[in-house]
Amino acid sequence: MIIGSHVGMSGKEMFLGAAKEAAGYGADALMIYTGAPQNTKRKPIEELKIQEGWDELHQHEIEHLIVHAPYIINLGNGVKEDIFELAVRFLRLELERSEAMGGEVLVVHPGAHVGEGVDRGIERVIQGLNQVLDETTTIPLALETMAGKGSELGRSFEELARIFDGVKHNERLRVCIDTCHMHDAGYDLCQDWEGVLQKLDQVIGLDRVAVVHLNDSKNLRGAAKDRHENIGFGAIGFDTLYRIAACSELSTVPKILETPYVPGAAKKTFPPYKYEIAMLRSGVFDPALKQKIVEGEL
Ligand code: FE
Ligand code: FE
Ligand code: ZN
Repeated sequence: MIIGSHVGMSGKEMFLGAAKEAAGYGADALMIYTGAPQNTKRKPIEELKIQEGWDELHQHEIEHLIVHAPYIINLGNGVKEDIFELAVRFLRLELERSEAMGGEVLVVHPGAHVGEGVDRGIERVIQGLNQVLDETTTIPLALETMAGKGSELGRSFEELARIFDGVKHNERLRVCIDTCHMHDAGYDLCQDWEGVLQKLDQVIGLDRVAVVHLNDSKNLRGAAKDRHENIGFGAIGFDTLYRIAACSELSTVPKILETPYVPGAAKKTFPPYKYEIAMLRSGVFDPALKQKIVEGEL
């Protein structure tokens, strides 16, 4: 099982800090944002400590780096030309940056149609991706499956497939499946994971899956909400998430946890990733570990 979590990249250590954090969780993959996820301000590549970070990762046999584009990027915006153009410009740079960092794939949310309707939104995303991707693009771009909150696009495999169909260089496109998002969008992971997998294969192709975001959900299936929960504590539950993490069809695909930090005393919060990774590797759910991490025993 290739598994890790999203980790922070900030302060002086930048990518070296991210690498150390991933190693501390016992991960063999990591996902980073190249800067704050809510804005597009970025440090020059020379200041990110990339080589130091990779030295650290190699020491711990961590080989899989995934980059996530900031979530304010919206290629689906057909109303404001400047937002759309910023998204195109930024994504091109982010692909270059991800490649320079040694990332294997860049994950992006397809976008939101902001009231213009799904058809217009998808048309816009296609137009944007055709400006972003050309023959010089080397690192693949993975579109994430979304929960369908607000006017989010990509809440079904069919919507993603329509985008794939319209993009000229779609050989560069991949998909990132997020378990919380699929569940919130209505896919029945608990009763029918095999069926969901089959549908994914028919509509997009399992060979296109580059990343699995492994998250439990705070909401009932189909809620279209997108609120992540710790593994085993939500509406999807440990057994289903373990089945997905261990499924042979996706064995070579990195699983990335984006579950929330656990609140402790005095407003402190604790990352759950070390114990969530250990539970998923062993296949055994131990709810008591959550408390132990808050008490600093893990
Ligand atoms: Fe995401
Ligand atoms: Fe995600
Ligand atoms: Zn989410």
